[in-house]
Amino acid sequence: MNQYALEHPELKAYQKDGRLAKLDGMHCWGYALNPSQPNAQKFMLDYASEMYFDFYPNADGLFIESSDYSICYCPRCQGHYYEREFEFVQAISERVWRNRSDASIVVYPHYFSSADIPLFGHGAEEKYDPRWTLFFTPHSAPIQTKLTSKAPRSIYWEPLILQTPDQAKSAFLRAQASGVNGLVFSLEFYTFLVRYPEDGGNWHLIGTRLKPFGHDWLPSIDDPYAYPLTRLLRTTFREFCRYPALSWEAFRAVVKKEIFWESTPSSAVDDLLEWQKAYVTDRSWYTPGPLMTPHLLSWQLELGHVTPAQLQNYREMLEGLKRIRRKYREPYKDPGIKSMVEGIDWVLAQWAGHERILETSYPNS
Ligand SMILES: [Zn+2]
Repeated sequence: MNQYALEHPELKAYQKDGRLAKLDGMHCWGYALNPSQPNAQKFMLDYASEMYFDFYPNADGLFIESSDYSICYCPRCQGHYYEREFEFVQAISERVWRNRSDASIVVYPHYFSSADIPLFGHGAEEKYDPRWTLFFTPHSAPIQTKLTSKAPRSIYWEPLILQTPDQAKSAFLRAQASGVNGLVFSLEFYTFLVRYPEDGGNWHLIGTRLKPFGHDWLPSIDDPYAYPLTRLLRTTFREFCRYPALSWEAFRAVVKKEIFWESTPSSAVDDLLEWQKAYVTDRSWYTPGPLMTPHLLSWQLELGHVTPAQLQNYREMLEGLKRIRRKYREPYKDPGIKSMVEGIDWVLAQWAGHERILETSYPNS
């Protein structure tokens, strides 16, 4: 959709300072459209209808994601942006419900509450129809209990891909305590060729192809979703969805059963959790934690993105990985152990001869 303005620049949204929309996105970069333009509304409605009715005729519903990149500040949208966007939401919802009255249509809360929206002013006060499922996020649509109490269905989202299992568990508990009755966590990986400075400045990745979850050490034929680091997160999601009150001990026992052999000591679970923490700490949507790739950490140091406390943390985690590595000897019968050791070996090999990066904030001086 964000490619449409390449051919129809007259439909571009306006930035706050009056300039036209800037090139932006995630992998597919383009321009935000201006919902005050009837042709932008028509395009969106036709496009979404085609996707829903022609491409996915058996879909149970659809999700309409409001942007967390930008909105439009043209004179007609100014102060009323979410009323304009709601025109589209209402039009596509009516079309879909006319066709199938029980379709789930998931929308942002911005149309039904004039509360502040992070970065984008405030929402609208349109009438809420309880057929809409509401969608909340920690960064762009904070949970509003005045809406969750009215909504039969609501969903909270968290970036599981950036988290450790105990952080994910806290997210579950937060959502549950605030009256949300659905959860969805992101766990998608990217394999695209990077053409733009993704995530606000990863320009050093331009020209490279991303590896699934940043797992550079995986042969390309492996299933990244079956890999222990990913499986750990999938298990976290499944278990805490089923049993929100699950104790940490019980969770560890499930992880043990899921990933390791029965005869393997349960301390392997602690090693896996430590390995996952090293992998996930300070990671981005596109790259693994800097500890996984010394060259990435070098870049981040040059860009001034690293604090001394983070360096200290990386030093400690690297020592932790060495400690784990010393515990295991070939042959590794348990495939869970084998995968973990191979991954850690790869990381330690990257660090060989480069540990000075961790000693100073200025690796090239
Ligand atoms: Zn506008």
